[in-house]
Amino acid sequence: SGARVRRARHKRLPQFQDRGVDVKFTDVAGLGKIRLELEEVVKFFTHGEMYRRRGVKIPGGILLCGPPGVGKTLLAKAVAGEAGVNFFSISASQFVEIYVGVGASRVRALYQEARENAPSVVFIDEIDAVGRERGLIKGSGGQERDATLNQLLVCLDGFEGRGNVITIAATNRPDILDPALVRPGRFDRKIYIPKPGQIGRIEILKVHARKKPIAEDVDYMAVASMAEGMVGAELANIIEVAAINMMRDERTEITTDDLLQAVQIEERGTLDRKDRSLEMWKQLALNEVAMAVASVNFPDLKNVEFVTISPRAGREMGYVRVKMDHLKFSEGMLSRQSLLDHITVQLAPRAADEIWYGKDQLSTIWAETGDNARSAARSLVLGGLTDKHYGLSDFWVADRLDDIDLEALQILNTCYQRVKEILKRNQTLVNVMVDELVQKKTLTKQEFFRLVDLHGSLEPIQPTI
Ligand code: ADP
Repeated sequence: SGARVRRARHKRLPQFQDRGVDVKFTDVAGLGKIRLELEEVVKFFTHGEMYRRRGVKIPGGILLCGPPGVGKTLLAKAVAGEAGVNFFSISASQFVEIYVGVGASRVRALYQEARENAPSVVFIDEIDAVGRERGLIKGSGGQERDATLNQLLVCLDGFEGRGNVITIAATNRPDILDPALVRPGRFDRKIYIPKPGQIGRIEILKVHARKKPIAEDVDYMAVASMAEGMVGAELANIIEVAAINMMRDERTEITTDDLLQAVQIEERGTLDRKDRSLEMWKQLALNEVAMAVASVNFPDLKNVEFVTISPRAGREMGYVRVKMDHLKFSEGMLSRQSLLDHITVQLAPRAADEIWYGKDQLSTIWAETGDNARSAARSLVLGGLTDKHYGLSDFWVADRLDDIDLEALQILNTCYQRVKEILKRNQTLVNVMVDELVQKKTLTKQEFFRLVDLHGSLEPIQPTI
């Protein structure tokens, strides 16, 4: 049959084949247990006969679900690479907006090619483009899509001896797929590929660093945490951009700094497209810068890792990452002073709003940190950490409640005055930093402390409580 395969290839130029697929599972990082499921798919090829003999049905299609750039295409290629079979691919969005009838015939041609060159993997990217539930689309475009979808269903059903051609499809919207597509025997196996977490990001960075001259002491933890929310495609790009940075400076090794800068560049590319006015960016930046600048005045909070106004990590507002002494935290060994410092920092956005925009222009941007400060102040009072002693049992006594709130309010007021003082002393620093943050969207630790060194005024002020 090898000879027949070769002849078939000569007759027709392959339209869909991706030659030189030599992707292996080791090229795909950060998958955890998902890898086991895909290893099973490989077995459908390598142990197909065994499955058939034992009467175990091989799925007609595997659906990889997940956001763009998490490695769905890469995984499909890795399955083909590991199994040593041919790989044919097409993006379903290409079917849309072409002449009537062409979509269906493209599908037929794709499967014909895959079958002539079996065993093979057929990969259909963005399958939701044709696989959307029928009836959801009206008009002639919808009819065209129906014809294509019907053809796809026919091809999925049409194999005897399953296991020679396996279809892998990718989508970010499994929820809108036509029920006919996900019926048993068709795409009845769904595998979800989420965005990588911290460990996953580190692993992906390392995979892409393999072929690059990378410094031995690179701090992957720092890079991965600054790249929070990013997917494999972005992380791969970060390594490329860092390498370009290195070349430009005529150095021979990629450093942590190259990588951190590359994260910023990657992020700016995404964020500049976001629909936010300069004023809005500035206000967000003031919010975060105020907290970061306040933080560095306090021993437990001064370890600022980075400052960002990027919403990619799932927080609309951005945030300041402070490296904490986690042991102290988890053991509940926070001192009264560090709780007060924490409250002071949480009030920084409100104080900055008042100083920079004036009392009449206060926004609700600080509402969340204000809540944090309030509840911390209450637990300070209830925890017996103030001069007056209230216990939890006082919670249930009405007249004591007022006292507790008053005491908490006093703490909040004192901390508020304190943070206002800090920010007023550091107006130049805040202004310069806001401008830089608006431009870069994220400041690395180095950039942050460089500005603090240049413009900051951090002499310790008197603890007021
Ligand atoms: P998707 O198909 O999910 O949109 P791709 O597979 O096209 O994503 O990913 C694009 C590129 O990003 C890959 O070729 C690879 O370089 C990189 N990439 C994405 N995810 C990973 C991962 N988990 N491990 C290693 N590299 C990855």
